This record gives sequence, C-alpha cells and structure tokens, in this order.
Amino acid sequence: SYEKILEIRQKHITPNIVPHFKKPLLIHNGHMQWLFDHEGRRYLDMFGGIVTVSVGHCHPKVNRALEQQINTLWHTTNIYFHPKIHEYAERLAAKMPGELKAVCFVNSGSEANDLAMLMARMHTGNQDIITFRNAYHGMSPYTMGLTALSTWRFPLPGVNNGIQHVMNPDPYLGLWGGAACRDSPIQTDRKCDCTPETGCLAGARYYEQLEEVFKYSLPRGRVAGMFAESIQGVGGTVQYPKGYIKKAAELVRANGGVFIADEVQTGFGRTGDHFWGFESHDFIPDIVTMAKGIGNGFPLAAVVTTPKIAASLGQALHFNTYGGNPMASAVGLAVLDVIEEEKLQKNSLAVGTYFLKCLAELRERFEIIGDVRGKGLMIGVELVSDRATRAPLSAPHVLEIWETCKDMGVLFGRGGLNGNVFRIKPPMCITNTDVKFAVDTLANAITEVSN
Ligand code: PMP
Repeated sequence: SYEKILEIRQKHITPNIVPHFKKPLLIHNGHMQWLFDHEGRRYLDMFGGIVTVSVGHCHPKVNRALEQQINTLWHTTNIYFHPKIHEYAERLAAKMPGELKAVCFVNSGSEANDLAMLMARMHTGNQDIITFRNAYHGMSPYTMGLTALSTWRFPLPGVNNGIQHVMNPDPYLGLWGGAACRDSPIQTDRKCDCTPETGCLAGARYYEQLEEVFKYSLPRGRVAGMFAESIQGVGGTVQYPKGYIKKAAELVRANGGVFIADEVQTGFGRTGDHFWGFESHDFIPDIVTMAKGIGNGFPLAAVVTTPKIAASLGQALHFNTYGGNPMASAVGLAVLDVIEEEKLQKNSLAVGTYFLKCLAELRERFEIIGDVRGKGLMIGVELVSDRATRAPLSAPHVLEIWETCKDMGVLFGRGGLNGNVFRIKPPMCITNTDVKFAVDTLANAITEVSN
C-alpha cells in the first residue's frame, strides 16, 4: 500500500533522494508516453524519467531485444569478447561525424564525464577544465566540480580543483541574472536580440569574459578542456547565443585543450533538427559524452572520441565492470533501431515545433510565463513574478502549479537555479494530441492556482 511504501522510505531509503511532489506518485507501470499509478490513474509523462525514456516506456521492440538477450547472455565483463558490444560500438560510431570513432561504454552520465575529464587531462598534459555556471555534468565527486548549480553541490573540499566556472551565456537571464545584456536593460519586456538564432553583443561579452579567464586564471593560459551541454538541461533549457560555442572551442584548442560536448540530454535526436545537439553549434567536438536517452532507462552511457585522444588512456588501465554489458548493448542497439524506424528525430522536430507555438500562445495569455524556449522536444517554460525584471515566480506558486498539473494528469519536470523553469522532455513518440492536452492542462493549472 501507499502508506507501507512511505514507512519503508522513512526507515530504509537515504534522505538524499527527494521524490517529486508533496504527495509523491507511486508508479506501477508505463506504456510509451504514459505512466500509471498504483490506483490505475494515467499520467502523460512530459519528463521521461528525467529525459531518459527516449523512445517510450516499455517499448515493445526494446523489450523484445532485452528479452532475447536475457535468455542468451547477461554478463561477462570486458575480459572476454562478446558480439553485442562490438556490433553496438560500430553502429554508434557510425552516428558520429569526423574522427569521433573510438567508443568507451560506461554506466551513467557522471561516469562518462569523469572519463572525459580524465581523457582531456591525460591527452593534453594540462590540468584546468572550464565549465559554465549553471551547468550540470554529474554528481560523482569529480563531476560535482563541473556542476555549477548550488543546489547540486556538497561542501566537499577539493571538488573545484582545477575547475574554472565561466559566466553562463544565458540570453534570457543575462550576465546579471535578470537583465539580458547591457544594451537591452531590464525595462524591455521581451528578450534582447541575443537569441540563439541571431547572436548579439551579449554573446560577444560572454566571450570576452572567457578570454579573460585564459588571461588571468589559467597557468600560462593553458587548458585541458572545456565542457558544455549543447542546451543546458537541469539549468533550465538554456540555449547559447549563436556562434559562442564554436568560438569557445576554437579558443580552447588554440590554448592546448579539447572541447567536450555533453550530449547526455541533447543527444539521440531530441532537439529534432540534428541527431546530436552540438551539430547546431556548427562544430565537431573532440570528446562527446552520452547517457540517459541512449538506453531508454537501461543503465548505459558512453564516451566517444578520436582514436588519438583515446590512445592517451592506453598509458594506464581504465576499467569498469559493467560498461557495455550484453544486455545494455542489446538495448542500445534496439533504441537506435526504433529512433530510425519510427523517425523519432523528425517527430521531435514536428511535435516540438507545434509545442513551442502553443506555449508561445499561452505566454500571451499569462503574465507569469516569462519565456518559452527550446528546440524539438527539449523545451523550457520560465515562470516569473515580473516580466520586466525576469525575477522568478515564488517557489510555493511554482510548486502549486506543478502539483496541480500532476493532479490533472500531466507530469512536467522542473529546473533552473530557482526551480522556476518547467522542463518538457517527453518520450519522442508523443503526438500533437498529447501536446494539446499538456498545454491545456498547464493553462488550467495556472488559472486554478492563480484564482
Ligand atoms: N550530464 C547532464 C547534461 C545531465 O543532465 C546529467 C544528469 N542529469 C548528467 C550529466 C549526469 O548523469 P547521471 O545522472 O546518469 O550520472
């Protein structure tokens, strides 16, 4: 029963795992974009188990692939060969551009970024790593240093060792967390011109600040690498000014470093226009990390890099027990098949574009919707108390709208430094009918809570 679950949680589950909602859901089963609770109530899943259920809950084809593998071989560890990991590495490498052909499988996004950081340092011989404020790259003690949202940081000594956080090129909140840029002070209601499509002066100012870090903070201006999510996920669906990432990568490389694209949320067609988020920044990274959607919920993650960078790890053994085990590889292959066969990237673009249009209309109706942004099925809705200053809507107000949506049958995620950005990243199989239901529900919840 629900009460028994609560009792067990209190006694036996460590309190760092905080469930969503005042009255958390007890989920019993799932099918495609739908989740069902213990009483059989249905919920439209707009968050996909934190951007992870890419092709749908219990997708029949993925289930069949897993079933088949379960009855063939579970596990050997990488001390022996098994065919699946090789078949899968070849398929995954074929999805990557340029020289990105060397794959190392691990089990989570944090592990992938840990390994990428190690590769960057081993390959370049430099130590310093640059990430953005507001970034999320993991929670292992190593990657917690890369993550720069105070919510997700423990007071551990040394996590910041060799890590520089630079200002976040956020076109909506801007350099000072409320004004988009110096040229477009806070009296304007809409964004300044520094959108991801056009780029603008603010983009240039962020870039100047990055240059300053090389000048003043890095030893002899040398760097091991820079990490960036192609669109910031946990940070609240933040898209960067056009051209920034490409220029940053050039600067990093000119100073001895490598550029690491964290595709944990943006990969596998979610952004609709491309298979990988970095492609919209018009450059090829040196290292790419991926997790979440890669396995539709099965623990699987990977680092893909060039053979040359991969070789730098050959100086020492680097090992993990489960990475690319037969079951994970079978699931990964089936997920790729489904994305291709069901044209889910194309669906992400079409349904996501319709979603953004409906949400933009909602913004016209509700003052508290400060911004609607994103691409494909990676969407953010920023709730504000004041459109001019872009100050966040109060936490209780945000939480009430969020919980009311849940009670009405739609599950959204939340993110951003102040938790005031609704995150919409559903399984990529959703339809326009689902969008309509989600948008109507959000409108009804805002109306109900605000009256
Ligand atoms: N990178 C990004 C962009 C993420 O969103 C996350 C997880 N939210 C991670 C890395 C870490 O992944 P994991 O939780 O699998 O360790």
